[in-house]
Amino acid sequence: MSEPVEWLPDGTPRSPRFGDIYRTSTGGLEQARHVFLGGCDLPAAWAGQPQWRILETGFGLGLNFLASWRAWKDDPQRPRLLHFVSMDAWSVSAADLRRSAAPHPQLAPLADALAEQWFGLVPGMHRLVFEEGHVLLTLFAGDVKNALAQEPFPADAVFLDGFDPQRNPAMWELAAFKAIARHCRRGTRVATWTVAGEVRRQLEQCGFILEKTEGLAPKRHCLKGVFDPGWEPKGRRLQAGVVPAVCAVVGSGLAGAAAAASLARRGWQVTVFDAGDAPAAGASSLPVGLLAPHFSVDDNLLSRLTRSGVRATLQQARALLSHGLDWQWSGVLEHRPDPPPAFQRRIAAMPLEDAWTCPAGSGQRAAAFLGPDATALWHPQGGWIKPAMLVQAWLAQPGITWRGSTQVDRAERCAGGWRLADARDGTVAEADLVVLAAGTATSQLACHALPLQSVRGQVSWAEQDAQQKLPPFPVNGNGHFIPGVPVGAATAWFCGATYGRGETDLLPRRADHQENLTRLGALLPSVEQQLVSSFSSRSLRAWTGVRCASADRRPLIGELEPGLWVSTAMGSRGLTFAALCAELLAARLHGEPLPLERRLAAALDAARGRPQRPASH
Ligand SMILES: Cc1cc2nc3c(=O)[nH]c(=O)nc-3n(C[C@H](O)[C@H](O)[C@H](O)COP(=O)(O)OP(=O)(O)OC[C@H]3O[C@@H](n4cnc5c(N)ncnc54)[C@H](O)[C@@H]3O)c2cc1C
Repeated sequence: MSEPVEWLPDGTPRSPRFGDIYRTSTGGLEQARHVFLGGCDLPAAWAGQPQWRILETGFGLGLNFLASWRAWKDDPQRPRLLHFVSMDAWSVSAADLRRSAAPHPQLAPLADALAEQWFGLVPGMHRLVFEEGHVLLTLFAGDVKNALAQEPFPADAVFLDGFDPQRNPAMWELAAFKAIARHCRRGTRVATWTVAGEVRRQLEQCGFILEKTEGLAPKRHCLKGVFDPGWEPKGRRLQAGVVPAVCAVVGSGLAGAAAAASLARRGWQVTVFDAGDAPAAGASSLPVGLLAPHFSVDDNLLSRLTRSGVRATLQQARALLSHGLDWQWSGVLEHRPDPPPAFQRRIAAMPLEDAWTCPAGSGQRAAAFLGPDATALWHPQGGWIKPAMLVQAWLAQPGITWRGSTQVDRAERCAGGWRLADARDGTVAEADLVVLAAGTATSQLACHALPLQSVRGQVSWAEQDAQQKLPPFPVNGNGHFIPGVPVGAATAWFCGATYGRGETDLLPRRADHQENLTRLGALLPSVEQQLVSSFSSRSLRAWTGVRCASADRRPLIGELEPGLWVSTAMGSRGLTFAALCAELLAARLHGEPLPLERRLAAALDAARGRPQRPASH
């Protein structure tokens, strides 16, 4: 549920909850520019910087974000990356964001773009991506205390916004200012519209040097300042970040290509090496895959991770792929033929509509030929994607070179950083930074034992014939069925997939087709009846591949040694995880705000469960 906004007759937005106005009817943009941008000496202060990170308390109707984004867009000296990190316990609706920006033609198109990504803001952190990944909004839906307890990052500017300190004191407490100070480097600028004595005293106590300046009517004054404590703050471990230079990525599947794109966006010169003679030579050569969040009764870690991942992939697919051809954002129906009672109780208690997952409606069940009693969920953000198309789109980004037919044997330290060597000890490349994204080969390449498993899988597929009545969207559950995928001039359905733990052989198997058919029988009985003859016909095709998985089914992302990073173990969810993991890797490397909550980021850390001994090499 969105937070209601009351629009007064003169256009002033007011919060019934706090009994306070968000801003005056005309003063929103002026306040953003004068008090916040001006108070933090922007845009001048960010000129020529590689990145700029703004931390804001109180997102409200988003005008400070939109004004900062506008200033960034209009500035030829803009930083390569603008991070805007904000928080709000009471998120307003997309319609109110639009309405708030409507009087300002410079902001209205930006507000439209923001509103498009403004869905599913459940408690926790959400990363919204604009300007091809150069403007990143990290929004924490929750209270200020939890928001500021996330992994600190060095902010360059702090906007203290929010309702009046007397009406919403939690935003203006000493504890909040101390947490903000933990995000500041010496020189971080701060600005706020209030000059309340208590606010000033507490900010000064936390190390801010403040100056009262001319306010914007009806306020006489506003406040600006700089973090410059008279002491050396204890226990400060804010990572300064690295300077982008030369990077080598091994593996051009989803994981490697996504990492290359995230790093190139930050200014790295990236070369991606692959043993294959075309990109997406491994598991990412899967003809088409499913994108959908994982549903669990207790909304477990994996469910929360997959929501962040699906959001990250959707943003990339929308920006880079051709809808209907390379991907389809159709929604996905999840069918559970034998759900445990807890699952059924949970579904019965769910709202009938939700941006992420809700009970499937009668029309959706009917379209999948399922009866009214079938246990079925609807994931509106799901769909299908052709992985190789996404890989190619990422590799085509500026700053990336791809080199195929290059089998790398290992990464080892050298004087200048890292050296990639082939089996004859020839130098493939030297680089300041190496990212290994080579599936199960990653352990061997890194000379580090990583807990990786091979899981072979087979997909059965065939061209669709016009007589077949198939659902208009993918269906998952135990296995999946993806209809309506354009393949050349034809349309095809895909059904899978098998799980052969510890197996790596790529030869198609008759028994696996049978297994896929049996699974389809439970998932979509009416579709199975229509396709059973296809499974014994010569037109049936197979695609086989090997997944690389960790023991807990979560990816492994992190730095093994200074300058040597891994991004692998995408398991059965490369489409869900690759983009998110790439942004997490880049954020950790650069000391940026993380794209997801601290606890979720830790759940992807490559250090987890890693034995501390090197792999035999
Ligand atoms: C049957 C099946 C069905 C699946 N269905 C789905 C699905 O519906 N949805 C979904 O999201 N995911 C699905 N997946 C999983 C998805 O395919 C993977 O998670 C994803 O492709 C992994 O990407 P990656 O980049 O980590 O690995 P890969 O795509 O395997 O890339 C690794 C790359 O490293 C290269 N490489 C390896 N060793 C070396 C070396 N020594 N030197 C140079 N290069 C090297 C390889 O050539 C390869 O190109 C499925 C997988 C299978 C097998």
